[in-house]
Amino acid sequence: MAKRTKKTVASDSGSLTFYIFLAIVLAIASALFFPKFAVSLSAGGEIFLRLLKMVVVPLVVTSVMCGIFGMGDVRKLGKPGAYTLLYFLLTAFTAVIIGIILVNVIKPGVGAFDAAALDTIRQAPETTQFMQRTGPGEKDIFTILNNLLLMLFTDNLFKSAVNMELLPLIFFSMVFAGLLTTLGKKVELLRDFVGQANEALMAFILLLMKVAPIGIFCLVAARFGKAQASGTFITVLKQTGWYSFTVVAGLAIHAIIVLPLVYWLFTKKNPYVFIYNMSQALLTAFSTASSTATLPVSIESAQVNAGVSKESTDFVLPLGATINMDGTALYEAAAAIFIAQSIGMHLDLMQQMIVAVTATLAAIGAAGIPEAGLVTMIIVLNAVGLPVEFIGLILSVDWLLDRFRTAVNVFGDCVGAAVVEKSILEAKRG
Ligand code: ASP
Repeated sequence: MAKRTKKTVASDSGSLTFYIFLAIVLAIASALFFPKFAVSLSAGGEIFLRLLKMVVVPLVVTSVMCGIFGMGDVRKLGKPGAYTLLYFLLTAFTAVIIGIILVNVIKPGVGAFDAAALDTIRQAPETTQFMQRTGPGEKDIFTILNNLLLMLFTDNLFKSAVNMELLPLIFFSMVFAGLLTTLGKKVELLRDFVGQANEALMAFILLLMKVAPIGIFCLVAARFGKAQASGTFITVLKQTGWYSFTVVAGLAIHAIIVLPLVYWLFTKKNPYVFIYNMSQALLTAFSTASSTATLPVSIESAQVNAGVSKESTDFVLPLGATINMDGTALYEAAAAIFIAQSIGMHLDLMQQMIVAVTATLAAIGAAGIPEAGLVTMIIVLNAVGLPVEFIGLILSVDWLLDRFRTAVNVFGDCVGAAVVEKSILEAKRG
């Protein structure tokens, strides 16, 4: 077979990015003008989503294991591991602060709803259904930390795999791969098997990307079409306009200024070229609203298009997709303060700090699936004594904001992989 040059790979990837972008624009246009037709495409979107999710569990296990094999010894993981966690925490906290500053400056909730509107929202069937689904949520910070810690461990690997709980799978893969590196020749076959399975899965993702524009077209058309067909799309946007603007502006500042600055400081490379190289993953995140479903594309784009080393992407991206959610953290803090403003409850500086800390933790606990942030938001509301049923104020627009925050979540992971790459490669050499 003829060897593909770097140039053909780059131009292939450039045109694929263009087609995915076009697919999203056309999908939104057809949803606005032909909502019924758009909704009828939902099966196509669901098939694409399933194909992506199908590879996630084997991909995470083999990638994380390959990451450890690449390092040669699990004990070398200390420094890069600590840097990665520090990066996750600091960037999420920065995102939260941006959200809090913006929501205090723009004040989207002040005077947005009168007493009658608040009452209607409180008693709306959607709000009640949501509350029934989620339950009362954790009340104090120790329970939250306790639960976060427990999320790392499972009593049944297969159950976790079935439920796509990636954290225990990542933990097990690290420990197990670490053991394999100490057992030498006896387990060579097993190591080769994992490495080859990983290669094959990457090839599968490349194949999947060929149909991505069609899958993404269907996915986006069906969801936007659903909103348009119910006649609520424009009304919801008008009602929650300033709130949505605040969240999207915060996300934009984080993604276009803060993260690029961090990227440039650590790599001394042009961050906007990096954004372009990662755009397939970012557009997929926007379309699926799920970091987990996007993971195969993130790994592929980071390695093939952006040239981040396999050692780094294998280690940082699966973990990042599960616990690093800058966009979600920003949104949870902004939403909580928006709710407080809307019901006329003043939050002092101390309470806003509590919002900042709990929003960071709540984002870590959120799963990489659509609208998971809405569920962990209850933690933030509880922490400062905000009545949970007022989450109804933001329910209607969440499906849309979710797409923007998921794209930022994924971008934060990818910048992380580029930032800690050096320390991972140093650990490998040393
Ligand atoms: N949908 C987001 C994600 O998958 C999580 C959230 O709801 O904020 O990254």
